[in-house]
Amino acid sequence: MPSHSFQPFRKHLERGGAGGVLRDRVEHLGGANHGDGEYVVYWAQSARRLRSNLALDYAIHRANEEELPVVVYESIRPDYPGANDRIHSFVLEGVAANHHDALKRGLRYLFFLPRTRDEARGGLKRLAQRARLVVTDEFPTSTLREQTRSFAASAPCPVVTVDGNGILPMRVFGKEQYMAKQLRDRAFRLFEERWGEIPELETKYQPYAGELDLPNYNGAHPRANAASCSIDHSVAPVPLHGGREEGLRRLDVFVRERLSGYAGLRNREAHRTSELSPYLHFGYLSAHEVARRALFSDAPAEDVDAFLEQLVIRRELSFNLCFYRDDYASLACLPDWAKKTLAGHADDRRHPVYSHAELERAETGDEVWNLAQRGLLSLGTIHNYLRMLWGKKIIEWSKTPEEAHAFMVAMHDKYAIDGRDPNTHAGILWCFGKHDRPWFERPIFGTIRYLASESTKKKVDLPAYARKIDALTS
Ligand SMILES: Cc1cc2nc3c(=O)[nH]c(=O)nc-3n(C[C@H](O)[C@H](O)[C@H](O)COP(=O)(O)OP(=O)(O)OC[C@H]3O[C@@H](n4cnc5c(N)ncnc54)[C@H](O)[C@@H]3O)c2cc1C
Repeated sequence: MPSHSFQPFRKHLERGGAGGVLRDRVEHLGGANHGDGEYVVYWAQSARRLRSNLALDYAIHRANEEELPVVVYESIRPDYPGANDRIHSFVLEGVAANHHDALKRGLRYLFFLPRTRDEARGGLKRLAQRARLVVTDEFPTSTLREQTRSFAASAPCPVVTVDGNGILPMRVFGKEQYMAKQLRDRAFRLFEERWGEIPELETKYQPYAGELDLPNYNGAHPRANAASCSIDHSVAPVPLHGGREEGLRRLDVFVRERLSGYAGLRNREAHRTSELSPYLHFGYLSAHEVARRALFSDAPAEDVDAFLEQLVIRRELSFNLCFYRDDYASLACLPDWAKKTLAGHADDRRHPVYSHAELERAETGDEVWNLAQRGLLSLGTIHNYLRMLWGKKIIEWSKTPEEAHAFMVAMHDKYAIDGRDPNTHAGILWCFGKHDRPWFERPIFGTIRYLASESTKKKVDLPAYARKIDALTS
């Protein structure tokens, strides 16, 4: 068994949660005290699900303490940066399943769908006027952080955030972890005590039957409804569907059919990894439940461990980066060696240099790279291994590292259905040396690891990936 096997943690999950423990996950953001609120609101921002959701569990717990009902509020504004049909559709496709689940659980659920910026103004505030407390998700990217903080700054009731992102609370590390090894060593010492702390807090609660002063979108015709919003309609929805039901179905298929063999084949085959990143990003699935399914599967231990290395260690390293570094969306957070080596090669000749328009349209002289970009344009994700090559080549073909970085982030913001995630930023920064070590000196890159299209061709089954893109887009 490798020195960092996850298998021993099964026993904690078999015993069940420690119950009632949300150590290091809850933060009180202030807001006016409202003694006579009628309900507790759970505002689902990044965890768009009604199960395996620590923030919702906490809201229920607080509501029960106050002998109040819970209202679950979800929304999508038309004015988030770069709002488009692709992202809107993926979110709206999850609404019907949440309505259904709310009915089954006896929870009051409301989805507010403002079509315009004007309609969006003050939606949650109206609900919060009659709330005793608003509980919401803590997510470490700046857009959601600012949205939460700006609401809390003038909220008519107290606001609390809950970090339900990972197996370990982000705060448990106390500071940035610079490498996977550093985080892994720490995490494995903490799992023993902490992995069992994922309580389903309380199963009994009061439903809220009163009027709510907002229109309730029922989840019908998600793509047509996205098309009716004042957003960018030039980025089409992807051939994959959003929603918890779809996420659970995909998780089930992955665990039954593809987890065995994951360790050896994840970087090679077109359809070998879980492809769950969009479902994790929008919170249709929790990392806890995905990890649990993998741990209790029949797959060989080496495959389960390889998968959990990505889902837990690598993912939590990304969250750690965004949580502890305000400059996570820039090259300023690179290690000194990477900054120095890039600066030392700033004047190296770049050839060819492609314009952003050429890159965006997948019109380079490199067929492997074009394929990766075509994946992003049409599927909304890039093949697991090609992602690395995709980023490295943009560095090679851009005038400056800063320009390359800004372009990669912009492409993810616009097209990636799993973009705008801590993993997006950590993945892109990895191409510039973040969470990596120096390699061999070469032009443009200095000692930053380089990848060549030729070696990628040998490693990845590219014809199969091309067939997949064609099949899903034709
Ligand atoms: C340039 C570049 C851009 C990237 N952009 C994104 C992005 O926008 N969104 C995104 O979720 N990931 C991104 N990654 C990280 C990684 O490539 C993807 O998470 C992975 O390919 C998603 O596919 P999957 O769900 O099939 O992964 P699986 O191999 O099935 O892994 C399961 C889960 O583990 C997590 N994971 C896997 N690999 C990594 C990793 N290297 N770092 C952090 N977490 C990981 C993800 O949540 C993933 O869904 C990027 C990597 C690079 C190099």
